[in-house]
Amino acid sequence: MSVASYVIPAIEETVVPVEGGGQFPVRRIYCVGRNYVEHIREMKEADERDPPFFFQKPRDSIVLHDEAVPYPPLTSDFQFEGELVIAIGKPGRDIGTDTALDHVFGYAAGIDLTRRDRQRDARDMRLPWEVGKSFDASAPCGPITPAASGGHRLQGALTLSVNGQERQRGDLAQMIWNVPEIVMQLSRQVKLAPGDLIYTGTPAGVGAVVPDDVIEVAIEGLTPLRISIAPPED
Ligand code: MN
Repeated sequence: MSVASYVIPAIEETVVPVEGGGQFPVRRIYCVGRNYVEHIREMKEADERDPPFFFQKPRDSIVLHDEAVPYPPLTSDFQFEGELVIAIGKPGRDIGTDTALDHVFGYAAGIDLTRRDRQRDARDMRLPWEVGKSFDASAPCGPITPAASGGHRLQGALTLSVNGQERQRGDLAQMIWNVPEIVMQLSRQVKLAPGDLIYTGTPAGVGAVVPDDVIEVAIEGLTPLRISIAPPED
């Protein structure tokens, strides 16, 4: 089908810059629901040994380094979750943990922005999580560092600060499900394909932000991500 046959404007691609050059086109955005014991405890959530579960964010909810996120509607408890992001570079399904890292193109620092009040409502009413998790500009993602040059991220400090003050500190080694296990588990549910991003869960210390706040996420071995919160859109 040629571009000229579209009856509405073509959908814009979503891309994330890659360290060393080039751009990573985004296909789907997955997120792990719970992956650090201390965060499960602060959320007073279910059994710490439960298998991981996944939810999605819209592809066009990506926000890049140094961009601003408008304070979203429908919340008064807009929270950050600093997370390692896996960028998938090779397709596969039913991937084993022994070959999982072959499917990883690289890694980035990311934030799973959350309407915590709406997420709690959904949980209490046993409704889907979309209103709490899957909204416009809810998936900030820093530049991707290829595994080929930067290696894999199985351990290393993850910190998140707001206005220069540290709010979250964890280590990737504290993940309940590590990178190969996440790739294995998700690839049982869906076919993974190049362009998929997986947000891998957050350590303890999540909290709320307001307009004019600046959030920075730093992960050892990766380029830091910084975004700001802007006033609500008119
Ligand atoms: Mn999260």
